[in-house]
Amino acid sequence: MQVKVFKFGGASVKDAPAIENLYQIMRLYPDDTIVVVISAMGKTTNFLEKVLEAYHQRPEEVPALVDELQRQHEQVAEQLVPDPGSIVDSLRQLFRQLRERLSCAPSQNYDFDYDQIVSFGELLSTTLISGYLNIAGIPNTWLDARRVIRTDSTFREGRVDWETSARQIQDAVAAGFGKGRVVLTQGFIGGTAENLTTTLGREGSDYSAAIIAHSLDAESVTIWKDVPGLLNADPKRFPDAVKLDRIPYEEALELTFYGASVIHPKTLKPLQNKQIPLYVKSFFHPENEGSVITNCRLSTGVPSFIVKDGQVLLTLFPKDFSFMGVENLSDVFTQLANYRVKINMMQNSALSLSICTDNVGERLKKCVDALKKRYKVKYNDPVQLITIRHHTPESVEKAVGDKKVLMRQTSRATIQFVVK
Ligand code: ASP
Ligand code: MG
Repeated sequence: MQVKVFKFGGASVKDAPAIENLYQIMRLYPDDTIVVVISAMGKTTNFLEKVLEAYHQRPEEVPALVDELQRQHEQVAEQLVPDPGSIVDSLRQLFRQLRERLSCAPSQNYDFDYDQIVSFGELLSTTLISGYLNIAGIPNTWLDARRVIRTDSTFREGRVDWETSARQIQDAVAAGFGKGRVVLTQGFIGGTAENLTTTLGREGSDYSAAIIAHSLDAESVTIWKDVPGLLNADPKRFPDAVKLDRIPYEEALELTFYGASVIHPKTLKPLQNKQIPLYVKSFFHPENEGSVITNCRLSTGVPSFIVKDGQVLLTLFPKDFSFMGVENLSDVFTQLANYRVKINMMQNSALSLSICTDNVGERLKKCVDALKKRYKVKYNDPVQLITIRHHTPESVEKAVGDKKVLMRQTSRATIQFVVK
């Protein structure tokens, strides 16, 4: 069976008109067998992060926040259907579970609590949208992603057990397709062998779509977005950004690795392994081409720009007067791996190693503390990382201009600058 996987992000389901638009898109594919992967509505995930913070620090604020979230969701249900009773009942059941969870004291493990609470965003959105589509004439089966996407217990960044997930996804989706041609599930969330909820990292719904597509040997994945496709730059920073029509997997992997935020960086590898094309299409203009990431040659030589704010530049000097040789490097990388601190760019010299990384808060702080035992650590924060693929002198001038460059690195296809 040929299966398509559709993914709708938070912006594509942010309110009742957006969800009606999703319905219209589904109507364009009346004969296809589709797994629909959906994120939390709009800014719900951020909102739930606020709930979590209150739960830990100002529990008296929790009830009002949850009430507000419930109002928002129920209001959308009321706008979508004249008689939303059954949808509202299902939403209320979830809110009961959420309130029950929040009435227990926080555990010792913040990341664990995060996943148990923030995962409600996707449970709510999919419950609402599944109910609406059923009423609107697109019968579908709601699938609990926590039962099928198996991860380890790295809370907030669950590592996927591919074999178990594939088996569970295949079985559950086949059962769903036994009843109808649409299966609808949550992005972002998974579950451990002990039935504890995990999440896959912020913006992880794209990755969920890829895990499902990989498991089903899907025909394609389509990410429906509020942009016309994959652009060569963020149009908010570069108003003359242009759409890239066909992008080879390798190129898209480089772009997402360096921080192009249109697609979650973990999404592409599983698709590339099975040669499943990824379409990025406009949610507002579904008839338009969009972009496709597939096995092809890069069609244009236009430079692509990726700008990442909020970066930290660390420079390490061995305290014991040894060189920054392989023993020290191996030690530093082990610490970075222990704390899951990623390297976006690095450079070493005889006496130092500089690393540009995302500011991952507490994890970075703990990592730096561990490194300080053997290294003097200089810290520059915040800095910006500018990456240009297929750079030209003009593109460098355009992106860097007269910003103060702290570190720079060039290869044939990529040039990077850490700037202040
Ligand atoms: N709702 C989650 C987030 O906002 C996952 C996603 O949207 O992909 O991070
Ligand atoms: Mg989102």
